[in-house]
Amino acid sequence: MSKKIMLSGVQPSGDLHIGNYLGAIRNWARYQEEYASFFFIAYYHAITEIKDPQLMREATCHVAADVLACGVDPEKCTFFVQSHARTSLELCWVLSCVTSMGDLERMTQYKDKARQLNIPVNAGLFLYPVLQAADILAFKTHVVPVGDDQCQHLELAREIVRRFNTAYGETFPEPQQLLSEVPRLLGLDGDSKMSKSKGNTISLIDDPESIKAKLKPAKTDVHRQRRSDPGDPSQCNVYTIHQGFSDPATCAQVDRDCRAAAIGCIDCKMMLADKLAATLAPIRERSRELRRHPDQLREILRQGSARATLTAETTMNEVRDKLGLFHP
Ligand code: AMP
Repeated sequence: MSKKIMLSGVQPSGDLHIGNYLGAIRNWARYQEEYASFFFIAYYHAITEIKDPQLMREATCHVAADVLACGVDPEKCTFFVQSHARTSLELCWVLSCVTSMGDLERMTQYKDKARQLNIPVNAGLFLYPVLQAADILAFKTHVVPVGDDQCQHLELAREIVRRFNTAYGETFPEPQQLLSEVPRLLGLDGDSKMSKSKGNTISLIDDPESIKAKLKPAKTDVHRQRRSDPGDPSQCNVYTIHQGFSDPATCAQVDRDCRAAAIGCIDCKMMLADKLAATLAPIRERSRELRRHPDQLREILRQGSARATLTAETTMNEVRDKLGLFHP
Protein backbone atom coordinates (compact mmCIF):
# COMPACT_ATOMS: atom_id res chain seq x y z
CA MET A 1 0.00 0.00 0.00
CA SER A 2 1.40 3.43 -0.88
CA LYS A 3 2.14 5.87 1.91
CA LYS A 4 -0.21 8.71 2.79
CA ILE A 5 1.03 12.19 1.99
CA MET A 6 2.27 14.70 4.56
CA LEU A 7 3.13 18.33 3.77
CA SER A 8 3.96 21.40 5.79
CA GLY A 9 5.72 24.74 5.38
CA VAL A 10 7.55 27.40 7.34
CA GLN A 11 8.05 31.06 6.48
CA PRO A 12 11.56 32.45 6.04
CA SER A 13 11.05 35.25 8.51
CA GLY A 14 13.98 34.72 10.90
CA ASP A 15 15.64 31.97 12.93
CA LEU A 16 13.30 29.17 13.97
CA HIS A 17 12.23 29.22 17.62
CA ILE A 18 11.21 26.57 20.12
CA GLY A 19 7.50 27.23 19.36
CA ASN A 20 8.08 26.25 15.71
CA TYR A 21 10.03 23.23 16.90
CA LEU A 22 7.54 21.94 19.48
CA GLY A 23 4.47 22.86 17.42
CA ALA A 24 5.54 21.57 14.02
CA ILE A 25 9.16 20.90 13.01
CA ARG A 26 9.80 18.13 15.56
CA ASN A 27 6.84 16.26 14.03
CA TRP A 28 8.24 16.81 10.54
CA ALA A 29 11.36 14.90 11.54
CA ARG A 30 9.44 12.27 13.53
CA TYR A 31 6.99 11.33 10.78
CA GLN A 32 9.00 12.03 7.62
CA GLU A 33 9.38 8.31 6.84
CA GLU A 34 5.93 7.17 7.92
CA TYR A 35 4.42 9.40 5.21
CA ALA A 36 5.52 10.46 1.74
CA SER A 37 6.66 13.85 3.01
CA PHE A 38 6.96 17.30 1.45
CA PHE A 39 8.30 20.25 3.44
CA PHE A 40 8.84 23.71 2.05
CA ILE A 41 9.95 27.24 2.79
CA ALA A 42 6.90 29.44 2.33
CA TYR A 43 8.56 32.34 0.55
CA TYR A 44 5.38 33.68 -1.07
CA HIS A 45 3.56 33.70 2.25
CA ALA A 46 6.41 35.62 3.88
CA ILE A 47 6.39 38.45 1.31
CA THR A 48 2.86 39.37 2.39
CA GLU A 49 4.68 41.04 5.31
CA ILE A 50 8.44 41.14 4.69
CA LYS A 51 9.61 43.64 2.09
CA ASP A 52 13.37 43.29 2.58
CA PRO A 53 15.06 41.21 -0.19
CA GLN A 54 18.36 40.85 1.69
CA LEU A 55 16.57 39.58 4.79
CA MET A 56 14.54 37.21 2.62
CA ARG A 57 17.67 35.74 0.99
CA GLU A 58 19.41 35.28 4.32
CA ALA A 59 16.38 33.94 6.16
CA THR A 60 15.69 31.37 3.43
CA CYS A 61 19.15 29.85 3.98
CA HIS A 62 18.95 30.15 7.77
CA VAL A 63 15.52 28.53 7.99
CA ALA A 64 16.63 25.75 5.62
CA ALA A 65 19.66 25.13 7.85
CA ASP A 66 17.50 25.09 11.01
CA VAL A 67 15.01 22.66 9.49
CA LEU A 68 17.75 20.26 8.38
CA ALA A 69 19.49 20.60 11.74
CA CYS A 70 16.26 19.45 13.43
CA GLY A 71 16.59 16.12 11.63
CA VAL A 72 14.59 16.68 8.47
CA ASP A 73 16.51 14.59 5.94
CA PRO A 74 16.36 15.47 2.22
CA GLU A 75 17.07 11.77 1.49
CA LYS A 76 13.86 10.80 3.28
CA CYS A 77 11.55 13.62 2.22
CA THR A 78 11.19 16.34 -0.41
CA PHE A 79 12.42 19.68 0.94
CA PHE A 80 11.98 22.68 -1.34
CA VAL A 81 11.30 26.40 -1.72
CA GLN A 82 7.74 27.31 -2.66
CA SER A 83 8.93 29.90 -5.18
CA HIS A 84 10.81 27.21 -7.17
CA ALA A 85 7.82 24.88 -7.43
CA ARG A 86 5.41 27.41 -8.85
CA THR A 87 2.48 25.13 -9.65
CA SER A 88 0.76 26.12 -6.42
CA LEU A 89 0.51 29.72 -7.70
CA GLU A 90 -1.60 28.57 -10.65
CA LEU A 91 -3.66 26.30 -8.41
CA CYS A 92 -4.14 29.21 -6.00
CA TRP A 93 -5.94 31.14 -8.72
CA VAL A 94 -8.17 28.16 -9.56
CA LEU A 95 -9.04 27.63 -5.89
CA SER A 96 -9.72 31.33 -5.32
CA CYS A 97 -12.55 30.92 -7.84
CA VAL A 98 -14.31 28.39 -5.56
CA THR A 99 -13.58 30.29 -2.30
CA SER A 100 -16.05 32.79 -0.89
CA MET A 101 -14.99 36.28 0.23
CA GLY A 102 -17.02 35.72 3.42
CA ASP A 103 -14.92 32.68 4.35
CA LEU A 104 -11.70 34.64 3.88
CA GLU A 105 -13.02 37.61 5.86
CA ARG A 106 -13.67 35.31 8.80
CA MET A 107 -10.02 34.18 9.12
CA THR A 108 -8.78 35.32 12.52
CA GLN A 109 -5.10 35.39 11.50
CA TYR A 110 -5.95 37.82 8.69
CA LYS A 111 -8.07 39.97 11.01
CA ASP A 112 -5.34 40.02 13.71
CA LYS A 113 -2.61 40.90 11.23
CA ALA A 114 -4.74 43.56 9.56
CA ARG A 115 -5.22 45.16 12.98
CA GLN A 116 -1.56 44.85 14.05
CA LEU A 117 0.05 46.01 10.80
CA ASN A 118 -1.69 49.34 11.00
CA ILE A 119 -1.22 49.85 7.26
CA PRO A 120 -3.58 49.13 4.35
CA VAL A 121 -3.87 45.35 4.06
CA ASN A 122 -2.45 43.89 0.85
CA ALA A 123 -4.47 41.40 -1.20
CA GLY A 124 -1.78 38.74 -0.63
CA LEU A 125 -2.50 38.71 3.08
CA PHE A 126 -6.18 38.22 2.31
CA LEU A 127 -5.46 35.33 -0.10
CA TYR A 128 -2.83 33.78 2.19
CA PRO A 129 -5.07 30.82 3.23
CA VAL A 130 -5.98 30.06 -0.42
CA LEU A 131 -2.28 29.84 -1.34
CA GLN A 132 -1.82 27.61 1.70
CA ALA A 133 -4.69 25.40 0.47
CA ALA A 134 -3.06 25.32 -2.99
CA ASP A 135 0.27 24.21 -1.50
CA ILE A 136 -1.54 21.44 0.36
CA LEU A 137 -3.79 20.29 -2.49
CA ALA A 138 -1.07 20.40 -5.17
CA PHE A 139 0.35 17.28 -3.46
CA LYS A 140 -3.06 15.74 -2.61
CA THR A 141 -1.95 15.96 1.01
CA HIS A 142 -3.65 13.90 3.73
CA VAL A 143 -1.85 15.19 6.83
CA VAL A 144 -0.44 18.63 7.73
CA PRO A 145 1.73 18.88 10.88
CA VAL A 146 1.16 22.44 12.17
CA GLY A 147 0.68 24.50 15.31
CA ASP A 148 -2.91 25.23 16.32
CA ASP A 149 -2.75 28.75 14.83
CA GLN A 150 -3.19 27.00 11.46
CA CYS A 151 -6.30 24.95 12.34
CA GLN A 152 -8.74 27.53 10.98
CA HIS A 153 -6.81 27.66 7.70
CA LEU A 154 -6.96 23.85 7.50
CA GLU A 155 -10.70 23.98 8.09
CA LEU A 156 -10.97 26.40 5.15
CA ALA A 157 -8.77 24.11 3.01
CA ARG A 158 -11.26 21.28 3.67
CA GLU A 159 -14.14 23.56 2.68
CA ILE A 160 -12.29 24.47 -0.54
CA VAL A 161 -11.79 20.74 -1.26
CA ARG A 162 -15.52 20.10 -0.82
CA ARG A 163 -16.41 23.02 -3.09
CA PHE A 164 -13.95 21.94 -5.78
CA ASN A 165 -14.91 18.25 -5.62
CA THR A 166 -18.61 19.12 -5.81
CA ALA A 167 -18.10 21.40 -8.81
CA TYR A 168 -15.62 19.29 -10.79
CA GLY A 169 -15.77 15.74 -9.40
CA GLU A 170 -13.76 13.90 -6.73
CA THR A 171 -10.17 15.21 -7.01
CA PHE A 172 -8.65 16.08 -3.62
CA PRO A 173 -8.68 14.35 -0.20
CA GLU A 174 -9.65 16.52 2.81
CA PRO A 175 -6.39 17.38 4.61
CA GLN A 176 -6.24 16.90 8.38
CA GLN A 177 -4.02 18.80 10.83
CA LEU A 178 -1.53 16.82 12.89
CA LEU A 179 -1.08 18.63 16.19
CA SER A 180 1.81 18.01 18.59
CA GLU A 181 1.78 17.76 22.39
CA VAL A 182 2.49 21.52 22.47
CA PRO A 183 0.30 22.91 19.69
CA ARG A 184 0.59 26.52 20.91
CA LEU A 185 3.55 27.77 22.89
CA LEU A 186 3.22 31.21 24.44
CA GLY A 187 6.10 33.66 24.21
CA LEU A 188 8.38 34.44 27.14
CA ASP A 189 6.16 37.46 27.86
CA GLY A 190 3.41 34.92 28.63
CA ASP A 191 0.89 37.14 26.80
CA SER A 192 0.79 35.99 23.19
CA LYS A 193 1.96 33.15 20.95
CA MET A 194 5.73 32.78 20.71
CA SER A 195 6.46 34.51 17.45
CA LYS A 196 9.46 35.86 15.53
CA SER A 197 7.67 39.18 15.03
CA LYS A 198 7.01 39.64 18.76
CA GLY A 199 10.61 39.24 19.95
CA ASN A 200 9.43 36.87 22.70
CA THR A 201 11.27 33.76 21.51
CA ILE A 202 14.06 31.39 22.36
CA SER A 203 15.59 30.54 19.02
CA LEU A 204 17.00 27.14 18.13
CA ILE A 205 20.47 28.63 17.72
CA ASP A 206 20.56 30.56 21.01
CA ASP A 207 23.62 29.66 23.09
CA PRO A 208 23.35 28.54 26.77
CA GLU A 209 24.02 32.06 28.11
CA SER A 210 21.31 33.68 25.96
CA ILE A 211 18.86 30.92 26.93
CA LYS A 212 19.50 31.65 30.63
CA ALA A 213 19.28 35.42 30.13
CA LYS A 214 16.00 35.09 28.21
CA LEU A 215 14.42 32.67 30.66
CA LYS A 216 15.22 34.68 33.80
CA PRO A 217 12.55 37.38 33.29
CA ALA A 218 10.07 34.98 31.60
CA LYS A 219 6.50 35.17 32.89
CA THR A 220 5.40 32.32 35.19
CA ASP A 221 2.20 31.65 37.17
CA VAL A 222 1.09 35.24 37.96
CA HIS A 223 -0.45 34.13 41.28
CA ARG A 224 2.96 33.02 42.53
CA GLN A 225 4.23 36.36 43.81
CA ARG A 226 6.68 35.20 46.51
CA ARG A 227 9.04 32.23 46.72
CA SER A 228 6.89 30.78 49.55
CA ASP A 229 3.65 30.89 47.49
CA PRO A 230 2.62 27.50 46.10
CA GLY A 231 2.49 27.63 42.30
CA ASP A 232 0.17 26.11 39.72
CA PRO A 233 2.18 24.59 36.84
CA SER A 234 -0.94 24.41 34.65
CA GLN A 235 -0.90 28.23 34.64
CA CYS A 236 2.82 28.55 33.93
CA ASN A 237 4.35 28.87 30.45
CA VAL A 238 7.79 27.87 31.74
CA TYR A 239 6.25 24.56 32.83
CA THR A 240 4.77 24.13 29.34
CA ILE A 241 8.30 24.47 27.93
CA HIS A 242 9.48 21.86 30.48
CA GLN A 243 6.78 19.53 29.13
CA GLY A 244 8.16 20.03 25.63
CA PHE A 245 11.79 19.34 26.53
CA SER A 246 12.18 17.63 29.93
CA ASP A 247 11.56 13.93 30.57
CA PRO A 248 8.32 12.87 32.35
CA ALA A 249 10.10 12.22 35.69
CA THR A 250 11.58 15.75 35.73
CA CYS A 251 8.21 17.26 34.82
CA ALA A 252 6.50 15.31 37.62
CA GLN A 253 9.15 16.50 40.09
CA VAL A 254 8.86 20.14 38.98
CA ASP A 255 5.08 19.90 39.22
CA ARG A 256 5.27 18.50 42.78
CA ASP A 257 7.95 20.91 44.00
CA CYS A 258 6.29 23.97 42.46
CA ARG A 259 2.91 23.16 44.03
CA ALA A 260 4.64 22.65 47.42
CA ALA A 261 6.80 25.79 46.98
CA ALA A 262 9.84 23.53 47.48
CA ILE A 263 11.47 25.23 44.48
CA GLY A 264 11.22 28.83 43.32
CA CYS A 265 10.60 30.01 39.76
CA ILE A 266 14.30 30.77 39.24
CA ASP A 267 15.26 27.19 40.29
CA CYS A 268 12.70 25.85 37.84
CA LYS A 269 13.94 28.15 35.06
CA MET A 270 17.59 27.20 35.57
CA MET A 271 16.73 23.48 35.40
CA LEU A 272 14.92 24.22 32.16
CA ALA A 273 17.81 26.34 30.85
CA ASP A 274 20.20 23.41 31.33
CA LYS A 275 17.83 21.00 29.63
CA LEU A 276 17.20 23.38 26.73
CA ALA A 277 20.89 24.11 26.25
CA ALA A 278 21.67 20.38 26.13
CA THR A 279 18.85 19.57 23.68
CA LEU A 280 19.50 22.53 21.40
CA ALA A 281 23.32 22.22 21.34
CA PRO A 282 23.49 19.65 18.50
CA ILE A 283 20.82 21.55 16.52
CA ARG A 284 22.68 24.84 16.99
CA GLU A 285 26.03 23.34 15.98
CA ARG A 286 24.59 21.62 12.91
CA SER A 287 22.65 24.69 11.81
CA ARG A 288 25.73 26.93 12.17
CA GLU A 289 27.76 24.46 10.11
CA LEU A 290 25.10 24.29 7.38
CA ARG A 291 24.79 28.09 7.29
CA ARG A 292 28.46 28.25 6.36
CA HIS A 293 27.61 26.50 3.06
CA PRO A 294 24.74 28.40 1.45
CA ASP A 295 25.54 26.89 -1.98
CA GLN A 296 24.98 23.39 -0.64
CA LEU A 297 21.71 24.48 0.97
CA ARG A 298 20.54 26.00 -2.29
CA GLU A 299 21.43 22.80 -4.15
CA ILE A 300 19.42 20.67 -1.69
CA LEU A 301 16.43 22.99 -2.15
CA ARG A 302 16.86 23.01 -5.93
CA GLN A 303 16.82 19.21 -6.13
CA GLY A 304 13.80 19.09 -3.82
CA SER A 305 12.00 21.69 -5.93
CA ALA A 306 12.53 19.63 -9.09
CA ARG A 307 10.97 16.56 -7.41
CA ALA A 308 8.12 18.63 -5.92
CA THR A 309 7.32 20.17 -9.30
CA LEU A 310 6.92 16.73 -10.91
CA THR A 311 4.29 15.70 -8.33
CA ALA A 312 2.50 19.05 -8.29
CA GLU A 313 2.36 19.21 -12.10
CA THR A 314 0.73 15.75 -12.23
CA THR A 315 -2.01 17.07 -9.95
CA MET A 316 -2.26 20.28 -11.93
CA ASN A 317 -2.76 18.40 -15.20
CA GLU A 318 -5.64 16.52 -13.61
CA VAL A 319 -7.08 19.87 -12.45
CA ARG A 320 -6.66 21.33 -15.96
CA ASP A 321 -8.54 18.34 -17.42
CA LYS A 322 -11.36 18.77 -14.92
CA LEU A 323 -11.62 22.49 -15.65
CA GLY A 324 -11.54 21.99 -19.42
CA LEU A 325 -8.18 23.73 -19.87
CA PHE A 326 -5.50 22.62 -22.31
CA HIS A 327 -2.20 21.47 -20.86
CA PRO A 328 0.61 24.02 -21.46
P1 AMP B 1 5.56 30.14 10.72
O1 AMP B 1 6.78 30.61 11.41
O2 AMP B 1 4.38 31.02 10.98
O3 AMP B 1 5.77 29.85 9.30
O4 AMP B 1 5.19 28.76 11.41
C1 AMP B 1 5.80 27.52 11.08
C2 AMP B 1 5.08 26.41 11.86
O5 AMP B 1 5.30 26.58 13.27
C3 AMP B 1 3.54 26.42 11.68
O6 AMP B 1 3.10 25.07 11.61
C4 AMP B 1 3.03 27.09 12.93
O7 AMP B 1 1.72 26.67 13.25
C5 AMP B 1 4.05 26.61 13.96
N1 AMP B 1 4.16 27.59 15.06
C6 AMP B 1 4.55 28.88 14.95
N2 AMP B 1 4.57 29.48 16.17
C7 AMP B 1 4.17 28.53 17.07
C8 AMP B 1 3.98 28.53 18.48
N3 AMP B 1 4.21 29.61 19.22
N4 AMP B 1 3.56 27.40 19.08
C9 AMP B 1 3.33 26.27 18.34
N5 AMP B 1 3.50 26.20 17.00
C10 AMP B 1 3.91 27.31 16.36
